[in-house]
Parts: sequence; structure tokens; C-alpha cells
Amino acid sequence: MAECRECDRSIPEGSNFCSHCGAPQNEKAAEALESFTKRQAKQLPEAELAELFEEGEQPQSASLDRRVSYAVGWVTLVGALAMVPSLASVFLLLAGIVILPPVRRLFAKQVGQRLDKRAVVGFYIVAVAVGSALFWLV
Ligand SMILES: [Zn+2]
Repeated sequence: MAECRECDRSIPEGSNFCSHCGAPQNEKAAEALESFTKRQAKQLPEAELAELFEEGEQPQSASLDRRVSYAVGWVTLVGALAMVPSLASVFLLLAGIVILPPVRRLFAKQVGQRLDKRAVVGFYIVAVAVGSALFWLV
């Protein structure tokens, strides 16, 4: 029997990895594990990786952003539906849809790149401005 380099528990002589904690027991095993991990990470789409890290860093502000986006999105959609015969509703519908978090996530999955938050908010503001202008002026 040998002892694990990480957790000091006994493992079979000549093991490459500890059967208790999974730690590699020699340089070769460590290198193999590292290249395996890198290969796995490469297979994840960039958007998913970004999401993993982003949510790990600021879970609270991210979920607050999401709740605000949901609220603003739904209010906009309801408002848009209320003015449906007007051309303004098209712009407001677009704005409301774009700002909803699931739409951003879907876009990230399809394109492999996350929509920039500022770009989304910018688009929302422009679309609402155009929609409101159409509603009041026409
Ligand atoms: Zn161990």
C-alpha cells in the first residue's frame, strides 16, 4: 500500500490517481489530467464558459439584473399589446422581447457569443423611443 500525496489515505501501490480524493499521484498522471480538463473545457461553447464564470463571480447582481430585465420586458410587452393597431407596438414588442433574459441566453447558444448587456439596453432604449415617438406623433 502507498499513501496519497493529497489526502494521506492508503491507496494501491503504483496508482496513478487516488481512489479517495482523485488527486494525481505522479507527474504523468497530473499532465494527463490537465490536458483532459483542457480538452473538456474547449468542447464547451464559449458562451457557456462565460456564463459559468460570470455567474460564479457576481451571483447577486446578476440575478437582480435578471429580475429587473424580466419586469421591464413584461411591462413593455403588455404596453405594446395595448397599442397593437399602432405601428409603435412593433417597436415596443421588439424592445420587450430583446430585453428578456431567456432571449439573451438563446441568442448566446445559437451564436456562441453573449449579447453585450449595454448593447441590449441600448437597443431597448432606441426601440422604445422610436415606438413612443410613433405613438405620439402619428
Ligand atoms: Zn487522496
